[in-house]
Amino acid sequence: MELVAALDIGASWTRVAAARPSGELLAYHTYPTPRDSDEIQRLISSSLNNLKSEVSVSEFRAVGIASVGPLSARDGMILGAPNIGRVRVSVGDAVRRVHDGLIVMLNDCNAAVLGERVFGAGRGARNIAYVTISTGIGGGAIVDDTLLLGKDGNAAEVGHTVVDYKYNVRCGCGGYGHWESFCSGRGLLRLARLVLGSKHAKKWRKPEQLFADARRRDKKALKLLEEAAKINAAGFANVINSFDPEVMTIGGSVALNNTSLVIDWAVRYLRRYILNRPPIIMPTPLGEKAPLMGAVAAALNPIEEAIVR
Ligand SMILES: [Zn+2]
Repeated sequence: MELVAALDIGASWTRVAAARPSGELLAYHTYPTPRDSDEIQRLISSSLNNLKSEVSVSEFRAVGIASVGPLSARDGMILGAPNIGRVRVSVGDAVRRVHDGLIVMLNDCNAAVLGERVFGAGRGARNIAYVTISTGIGGGAIVDDTLLLGKDGNAAEVGHTVVDYKYNVRCGCGGYGHWESFCSGRGLLRLARLVLGSKHAKKWRKPEQLFADARRRDKKALKLLEEAAKINAAGFANVINSFDPEVMTIGGSVALNNTSLVIDWAVRYLRRYILNRPPIIMPTPLGEKAPLMGAVAAALNPIEEAIVR
C-alpha cells in the first residue's frame, strides 16, 4: 500500500493519477469535468477504480483531492462552484464508494502551492505564492512554511480581490470588480467589450482567438491585452502585498499558453503597485499538473485540517 491516488477537479478538466512516494506518476488521465453533480461523482468513483486496476493495487494509501472551490474541505464537499454550474458535490462520498482509507481535500490553488513547495519551484522556500489564470483566477499561499487554509479551506481566493470599483462588472461569484471578472479566460472577452466596444469584441468567441490575433500584432488585441496586463499587475500586487512571498509561480492555461503576453507584460507594470522587494516570478514548472501534484503531496503527508471527516 505504498501508492497514493490524486484527483484534480478543475472547472474544465478533471485529472486523475496514481503516484509513488517520490511523486512519480504511474498512471495519469484527463477527463472533461461534467456539469452535473451525479456525473461528477460517477467520474470520481469510476476513474479511481480504473486507476486501481491499472496499477494493480487493491487499496491506495490515501487519496488526495484538489478541487475547484468554494469548498467545505473537512466535509469533502464542493459548495456550488460558480465555474462548474453552481453544483454541490459530495466528493468525499464519491471517493468512499471505492476507497476505505484516508481522504485529504484542498482547494485547487492551495493544493498547487503545496505541489510547488514539495515538487516544484518552491523547494527550499518558506514563503511561496501561486496564482492560476485559466477559466477563473485563483491563488494559494504558504507563509512561514505554513499552508494557509482558512476555516473551510478557501483561504487566498485572490481571484476575488477587488481591482476596480467603477466598471460595474459582476463576477461569476456575484461580487463586483473582482480580478477574475476581467482577466480570466472568460473575463478577457468581457474586458474586450468594455475596452473596445461590443462590435469589435464580437470577433473573439474564445480567448485563444484573441491571443492568436495579438501574436499577429493586431492593434486592438494588443490594446486589450495591455489593459489586462495592468489589471493583472494590480492582482499580482495584491498577492505580493498580502503574503510577501520569496517565489510566486503562475499557472493556468491562459497564463501558461501565453507567458509573454500575460505574465511578462503584467510584471512590467508591477512596480506601480508593490511596496516591497518583489519575489521571483515565473511560470510554474509543474505546468497544468500543479494542483494534481499538490494533491499527491497532501496524500503523502496529510495535513490534519484538510482530512475529510
Ligand atoms: Zn468573484
